[in-house]
Amino acid sequence: MEDCIFCKIANREINTEFLYEDSELVAFRDIAPKAPVHILIIPRKHIPTINDLEEEDNQMVGKIYQVAKKLAEEYNIAEDGYRIVVNCNANGGQVVYHLHFHLLGGEKLGDIC
Ligand code: 5GP
Ligand code: ZN
Repeated sequence: MEDCIFCKIANREINTEFLYEDSELVAFRDIAPKAPVHILIIPRKHIPTINDLEEEDNQMVGKIYQVAKKLAEEYNIAEDGYRIVVNCNANGGQVVYHLHFHLLGGEKLGDIC
């Protein structure tokens, strides 16, 4: 989608180091990290929010968790623990309307729920 910053990152129109990539997903560091490790995992496909997920996306969403697990191991946060966050729409605090999973860790995170 035009004018979507995460589509541009996924398409390499904006130069960003990928920590993981395959035909469906890419992962890269958040530009304004809220924890020592803050990685975003996104589908290449432009899906605005969780509300827009379809049945055909189930396998891709499952794979996001597999990639998150692998990155957590790679960045040494698996054992101490981490959090995976997806914000949805205004009340959820979503700012970028291209589905993304935040992988946060490297310190004790504040309680949100
Ligand atoms: P949201 O609030 O939508 O769940 O999170 C959007 C996240 O994207 C924020 O944590 C923000 O720092 C990050 N972000 C926004 N623009 C860019 C960018 O151009 N590059 C990277 N790497 N992260 C971005
Ligand atoms: Zn997009």
